[in-house]
Amino acid sequence: MSSRACAIGPRAIALLGVALFFTFIFIPTANAQRKPGARQSETATSSPSSRRNPEIARIVSEIKAANIEHTIRKLVSFGTRNTLSSQDNPTRGIGAARDYLYNEFSKIAEASNGRMTVEKQTFEQAPGKYQRIAHTTTLTNIVATLRGTQPASENRVYVVSGHYDSMCTSPTNAECDAPGANDDASGTAAVLEMARVMSRYKFDATIIFMTVAGEEQGLVGSTYFAEQAKEQKMNIEAMFTNDIVGSSLGGNGVHDPHTVRVFSEGVQSNETTEEANVRRGVGGENDSTSRQLARFIKETGERYVPGMRVMMIYRRDRYLRGGDHIPFLERGYAAVRFTEPNENYNHQHQNVRVENGVQYGDLPEFDDFNYIAQVARINASNLAALALAPARPKNAGIVTARLTNDTDLKWDAGTEPDLAGYEVVWRDTTSPTWTNSRWVGNMTTYTMKGMSKDNYFFGVRAVDKDGNRSPVSYPRPVR
Ligand SMILES: [Zn+2]
Repeated sequence: MSSRACAIGPRAIALLGVALFFTFIFIPTANAQRKPGARQSETATSSPSSRRNPEIARIVSEIKAANIEHTIRKLVSFGTRNTLSSQDNPTRGIGAARDYLYNEFSKIAEASNGRMTVEKQTFEQAPGKYQRIAHTTTLTNIVATLRGTQPASENRVYVVSGHYDSMCTSPTNAECDAPGANDDASGTAAVLEMARVMSRYKFDATIIFMTVAGEEQGLVGSTYFAEQAKEQKMNIEAMFTNDIVGSSLGGNGVHDPHTVRVFSEGVQSNETTEEANVRRGVGGENDSTSRQLARFIKETGERYVPGMRVMMIYRRDRYLRGGDHIPFLERGYAAVRFTEPNENYNHQHQNVRVENGVQYGDLPEFDDFNYIAQVARINASNLAALALAPARPKNAGIVTARLTNDTDLKWDAGTEPDLAGYEVVWRDTTSPTWTNSRWVGNMTTYTMKGMSKDNYFFGVRAVDKDGNRSPVSYPRPVR
């Protein structure tokens, strides 16, 4: 954020304006409004966009690699977690993994004073829809819900997920060993560890910690959850899938424990023809809700986990491949995928064996537990930042009633009692991230004087009294 701080005149003035706001408005109300752990001095001395919320920093510091390692070794000990494997053998197969995870999440929930509840979302998948499910199969997602504590925000939901099923070379072989230490015990263990730490904190909005089955069978568990959510009109504001976040050493020999890839699509998977026509008219192929989410993740994750880089990838997923975020994208939810920077295909979807001196198979010895903890910290800082912040502004628009070199913005007022106001953000059309922001106060219209909507991309985000910021809403043209 130093680029903001050392900016030229107008930017510096805007920054000063924000600083003044936080000095004269934020501080006097802080005792009444601030959440546990917020320190007054930080808001007065540092740029609000670079300052850390101490509560989020504490969450990050409590994530432990040793817990993640323990979970992964336990999941691997079940031999296989293929979705078609045994449902009722207590020591081998996906049923054993399901029960283990349910018990672990339940233990965490018990310590949450009733704020977290755990559910087995079980359903029968009939053959026909998925090529890799030939017979009616029972699948179970483990869903742990940490309810938000602010009534105006509790129905706003953030979902973080990993898949606990695994496969060997054949996706339909239920007997072969399929340790799945990286794919995807790594993501599953990261989600469980986040639940353990975050269940002890309070958030305005609701967070769902989920581990799903059937990913290797065709995203079966995540599709079921996303469809149920859509039918129930669940307000999911963001979904993260953590899939293959286990290793810092790639098959290309590159060792990089400091990078995590975040895949986001630029154009919504469920875009209508009408929306596509608007987009062609005004631009916005790089400004979907998922892309705004990726920008938020980069800014927040790198602020709270120093030394880690969030590498935004402008793709829905890896080349011609898929993951559990896709069923959410197809239903209009913002969603991204977290994955290690360089994969090793000898250790994915491979029978465990040695061939010509090369060890194949997804074994725990190829996991880097400290790296997985870092990825979990990036996730947790973002989930906390999202669930503490107000909702992103709804119905953001650029008013096109007059032809002008100014840009007239409008949006709907938020309903949160701790809402402080809004920031307008902008960037050059070629910039990957938002580079400038201006505090505009608690209002729902603002004119960027002398700045043409032809020459910049604009957005608006909500800010609460503690300085927590929402992701950016990208405005659509309105009359
Ligand atoms: Zn996977």
